[in-house]
Amino acid sequence: MLIRIPGEEPFEIGIDGNTFVEIADATTVVPDTSRWWALPGLADCHAHVTMTSLAEFDAITDETMQSTIPGATWAHLEHGVLLILDKGGKSDATLLTLDHDADLRPYVETAGAMIAPEGGYYAGFGAEVQPEDLVAHIASVAATRGGWIKLVGDWPRRGVGPQNNYPHDILEEAVSAAHDVGVRVAIHSMAHSASDAVAAGVDSIEHGPFLTKSDLEDLAARGGAWVPTIVNMLHLVDLLGPDSSGGKMFQSGLDRMRDLLPAAESLGVTVLAGTDMAVPHGEVAAEAVRLAEYGLTDEAAVAATSTAAYEYVGRPPTPAVGNEADVVFFDEDPTHDVSILSRPALVVRRGRIVGGTHA
Ligand SMILES: [Zn+2]
Repeated sequence: MLIRIPGEEPFEIGIDGNTFVEIADATTVVPDTSRWWALPGLADCHAHVTMTSLAEFDAITDETMQSTIPGATWAHLEHGVLLILDKGGKSDATLLTLDHDADLRPYVETAGAMIAPEGGYYAGFGAEVQPEDLVAHIASVAATRGGWIKLVGDWPRRGVGPQNNYPHDILEEAVSAAHDVGVRVAIHSMAHSASDAVAAGVDSIEHGPFLTKSDLEDLAARGGAWVPTIVNMLHLVDLLGPDSSGGKMFQSGLDRMRDLLPAAESLGVTVLAGTDMAVPHGEVAAEAVRLAEYGLTDEAAVAATSTAAYEYVGRPPTPAVGNEADVVFFDEDPTHDVSILSRPALVVRRGRIVGGTHA
């Protein structure tokens, strides 16, 4: 099959079983891909595949989380999303995603229960860990996660607005406890916890509308990631109403994004697309369109939704002999029209066709 990645020389590669092989060794018959454009897969870097919406937090149980995983992960596959970073959930049931048949789900890295102190997130959601216990908690659980720890960095308190959940010094120690066992740390930052988190060495800033340019410089210098989740912020403005205090804060954050995104691109920050349940599972293309609308070039918006995520997790951003046969094809060059990402022509996961308009 011909692989034409935007901006690269086209090349031929074959499939044998679930692996890419030299064309001479191919055993799998594949459609003619010579007129299509290819990406290694789409990527949703802020997904929650144990849930289907933000509106059901109380009703979520380990049973509902477990039963949601197969349908949610399959929906991602069908849409061409072959890589997911699941940024945690109500309990460690998120880790069960990793036990599911790899042919029927994307490649997944996942945090377990989200971590926040008392009063620092939705009550009863995730693991409640007070600041003085955070480092010990992370040291004890990090090695059993799916590659990630997820902290809640800030949360509104009645009458005083959003407050940071953990002081900088504790964050710094917590991050190094995770790094000691090769686990990355992501932090929910909707208000002003982002700068502390960046300074503390957190790997991935989730949302991050109040990042500063100097934070972006620091993130870029150490290969840190930023997952803006614009679709989610727009959803929250809708949900809360544009005139509510929360709605106003999210709107001012969205306005800041229009400056921050081009700055992040020019500084070389790893900007990644994430949906955070604001759109149905699999529809990360909607975030790619928003990233372009809010200031990324089309090339960077496509990278954020695909190749940059592959590079970030250390998977090859180009189909290569010996690797899992994952690839997604499009009728048009997505860097000329980002919206084509929502209509893959053919989706191949581990050597099998799982979706696409020409499937
Ligand atoms: Zn989230």
